Amino acid sequence: MTSLFDNARIEHRARLGNTLVKRLSEKGFHASYVPSREEALAEVLKIIPEGASVGIPGSVTIREIGAMEKLTERGCKVIHHWDPSLSPEERRDALQQELLADFFLTSSNALTLDGLLVNIDGNGNKVSGMAWGKNTLIFVIGLNKVANTLDDAIARTRNMATPPNSLRLGLKTPCTATGVCVNCNSPDRVCNALLVLERATGGRTSHVILVGEDLGF
Ligand code: SF4
Repeated sequence: MTSLFDNARIEHRARLGNTLVKRLSEKGFHASYVPSREEALAEVLKIIPEGASVGIPGSVTIREIGAMEKLTERGCKVIHHWDPSLSPEERRDALQQELLADFFLTSSNALTLDGLLVNIDGNGNKVSGMAWGKNTLIFVIGLNKVANTLDDAIARTRNMATPPNSLRLGLKTPCTATGVCVNCNSPDRVCNALLVLERATGGRTSHVILVGEDLGF
C-alpha cells in the first residue's frame, strides 16, 4: 500500500525525470522517463527488434531489469562477457563482439542535473562502446544515479558505484574494505578510464531511458 509520503516521492521522481528528459533531449539524446523497471524493459523492447544482436557490457542495471532473459526469449543474439564458462580468450572475443552488435545496451554510473553522463571503466570496453559505434546506443539509468555537478558525479562513480562493483567481482581494492575510494594503486584497480558524455556523439542514435527506481550501482 502506498502512503502519502510514497506518493510525494513518486511524484518528485516523475518531475525530476521529466526535467532531465528535457535536458538530455536538448543534447541530442532520444530521452524518456518511466516510473518502473518493468516499463524500462518495455521501452527497451520497443527499440530493439526481434532477432537483432545486442552487446551488453558489465551493467548490473541491464541485468536487474530482466533484459538478458527477455531479449534471448525474443530471439535476439545477446553478447556478453560475464558468462563464467568462457575461457580468457573467449571472454576477450566477447568484449570485442559486444561493441560490434546492432545495439549496445548499457547504463551510466552517474547523470548530472544538467545532463552529463559520467562513466568509469576498468578495461575501457564499456566507455569505448558509449563513445563511438555504428550501432544504436541505449542507456537505462535509475534516478539513484543523479548527481548535482560533474564533481559530484565523478565522486559518485568512485564512492558509490565502484566499491559494490569491486565487491561483486571479489577484487582486493581498498574500497571493498572501507566502502570509500582512496585513489588506490591496487593491481585490482578498476577506475582506469573516465568518460563524460556532454552530448550524444555523432553518426548514431542514442537513447536514454530514465527510471524512477534504484537500479545498478
Ligand atoms: S581508485 Fe581504487 S579505491 Fe578508488 S574506487 Fe577505484 S578501485 Fe576503489
